[in-house]
Amino acid sequence: MKVTTVVIGAGHSGLAMSKCLIDRSIDHVVLERGQVANSWKTERWDSLRLLTPNWQSRLPGLAYDGSDPDGFMAMPELINFIDRYAVTAGAPVQPETTVTSVQRTDGGYRVETNQGVWDCQAVVLASGACNIASVPAVAEAVPAEIDMVTPADYRNPDQLAEGGVLVVGASATGAQLAEEIHRSGRPVTISVGEHVRMPRTYRGKDVQWWMDASGLLDETYLTVDDIVRARRLPSPQLVGTPEHTMLDLNSMSDLGIKLMGRLAGVRDGQAQFSGGFRNLCALSDLKMGRLLKTFDEWATENGVDSEVANPERFEPTAVEIEPPLGLDLNNGEIKTILWATGYRPDYSWLDIPVLDRKGHVKHDGGVVSSPGMYLMGMPFLRRRKSSFIHGAGDDARELTEHLGQYLEGQAGLHGAAG
Ligand SMILES: Cc1cc2nc3c(=O)[nH]c(=O)nc-3n(C[C@H](O)[C@H](O)[C@H](O)COP(=O)(O)OP(=O)(O)OC[C@H]3O[C@@H](n4cnc5c(N)ncnc54)[C@H](O)[C@@H]3O)c2cc1C
Repeated sequence: MKVTTVVIGAGHSGLAMSKCLIDRSIDHVVLERGQVANSWKTERWDSLRLLTPNWQSRLPGLAYDGSDPDGFMAMPELINFIDRYAVTAGAPVQPETTVTSVQRTDGGYRVETNQGVWDCQAVVLASGACNIASVPAVAEAVPAEIDMVTPADYRNPDQLAEGGVLVVGASATGAQLAEEIHRSGRPVTISVGEHVRMPRTYRGKDVQWWMDASGLLDETYLTVDDIVRARRLPSPQLVGTPEHTMLDLNSMSDLGIKLMGRLAGVRDGQAQFSGGFRNLCALSDLKMGRLLKTFDEWATENGVDSEVANPERFEPTAVEIEPPLGLDLNNGEIKTILWATGYRPDYSWLDIPVLDRKGHVKHDGGVVSSPGMYLMGMPFLRRRKSSFIHGAGDDARELTEHLGQYLEGQAGLHGAAG
């Protein structure tokens, strides 16, 4: 089969790209190994809600239009939203089509799937940033009696053995799951590495309102101080609940969740935690203070002080003077370890040398070094908001522009040669 462009993946990123390609009359197909919104349908836990408010769910040609703009979508609602987007955009999705290989050819690319082969001039990789749950090597030293689970397999606490749970990682996923598991009656210990603390609500407005209005979410990869670091930042400790609750280490320890430092190793059944936990928390508090100061300055400079409540500051993170450095994994108290240690993409099917040492596609704002190849949906791809639903639109528009020019250039070249 021949098509001008193949988009791989029918999550919101691939669909936003498809909408922009349609608007530019670029012929394409969206290949999806499952159904539209496959990741949300098959890889998330039951109670998950978006941590971004409903008003922020906006894609090219479709924005949230329900009755609760400040609420947070649960999975069925989000799946409906993305399914509806695929239909209204008219995306040419080919479901149940798994890409097994992408190779370079003279005229562009050869995309092999379980449903046939597509030859195309351009390829958009929109296959997701979170295909595989990352588990650190230290997991290999965990005693065999302890069950291990990742957020990709976890659905609800009922699937866990009764008894203690060690959650490793305290970003959005780890913090949300630690709380849910604790509420199920299982004693939870959470191991905390570098983390981004944020209030849910600040001066009467959702923190995402501040991030959006102050322009922080629009900061680009060309202007941010350290793009390598910015792309690695963990997700903020936020949860979307009907009560707009704040989720941080203080709220977790108030519930009775035990806090430990970063998991450094496991030896002879003893988990060892690094000693810098207090400093780590102090740094995170400091960064949150800086963020709130940025919001305050923006509010004053833009004359919105009178529209919002007064500035507020939050209690520092409470950490024991000498937090424990070890945890016995042999004494039967910990029955399960949940590795909430991040996700990574899977490009095992990409037969083109564009990956770095860590298996991430090398790119310049989504433009991959292999001509006619583009990337969507990665953290800080072009902007701070790139990996979020509301971030796909601007990236898709700009990359479609680039892709269109590339195709025109190719047509010109072949025209000249012919
Ligand atoms: C737990 C969690 C919570 C999140 N919460 C929020 C939130 O609150 N707000 C927000 O804006 N963002 C959130 N995100 C981030 C982001 O919106 C999601 O990761 C989103 O799913 C990314 O969309 P995507 O289209 O880039 O990737 P995906 O939704 O993962 O879509 C990629 C698609 O590609 C398909 N695919 C992969 N490989 C192949 C292949 N070889 N062949 C064919 N198809 C393939 C997959 O089946 C999938 O459908 C969250 C992410 C996670 C993991």
